[in-house]
Amino acid sequence: MKVYILTLFPEMFRPVLESSILKRARERGLIAVTLVNIRDFAHDAHKTVDDYPYGGGPGMVMKPEPVYEAVEWVEKDLGRKPYVILLTPQGQKFTGAVARRLACLRDMTLVAGHYEGFDERIRYLADAEMSIGDYVLTGGELPAMVVLDAVSRFIPGVLGDEESAMEDSFSDGLLEGPQYTRPPEYRGMRVPDVLLTGDHRAVERWRRKASLRRTLERRPDLLKEACLTYEDRRLLEEVMKERQKETQE
Ligand code: SAM
Repeated sequence: MKVYILTLFPEMFRPVLESSILKRARERGLIAVTLVNIRDFAHDAHKTVDDYPYGGGPGMVMKPEPVYEAVEWVEKDLGRKPYVILLTPQGQKFTGAVARRLACLRDMTLVAGHYEGFDERIRYLADAEMSIGDYVLTGGELPAMVVLDAVSRFIPGVLGDEESAMEDSFSDGLLEGPQYTRPPEYRGMRVPDVLLTGDHRAVERWRRKASLRRTLERRPDLLKEACLTYEDRRLLEEVMKERQKETQE
């Protein structure tokens, strides 16, 4: 996937792009990231990219011209109309399901705002507006990194073990259950026996039930949307009965 990131602070991205899984994915040609400095498209000698809001009020607003021209540059470089995503707290909530859908795109252009945000006309450039949560950050750089990282995990080959993205929390609408590694006992805390048996069917069943239990306990709202099989519903009933028994004891 070709990714363009339009930002006033390209230097913020380098450590992220040059570490760990994103670095490996870039080296293997699975994702290509181009950082585009919006300031390079400013019109005056001072490289002005923001201005006072019409009608008064606090803060500065990002001017439309440099952002429009930066997107036009991307279009020329890419050779087709890019898929443009504005990062804004007013956008659609960015979720695992959205990340998985975006991973099917051939290209993605992320536009990070700053200051008090974008001149409203910049919104007309966007194919989508995304928010990473109901809070306001100082800029769109961290949200752009979040989107890039989460989307990359769904691009085939980016993760060493293809299975793991599919088993992670949210990928099937549920939270992942508990995970253990060696030693089998630590400070009196034992790994559940079933995980040590080597019985794959029993482990699989235990994992599914643990995932349903964790989702019920921490995010019951997810269960309403999750696509549950007949067997899942049976396991969930078992979990509910167990919990009822636990509270009575
Ligand atoms: N005044 C704007 C508002 O109330 O919607 C907030 C501007 S914020 C200080 C500056 C920039 O940070 C935004 O243009 C956006 O790019 C980015 N940003 C802040 N919080 C975000 C969030 N939760 N999700 C996505 N982007 C965010």
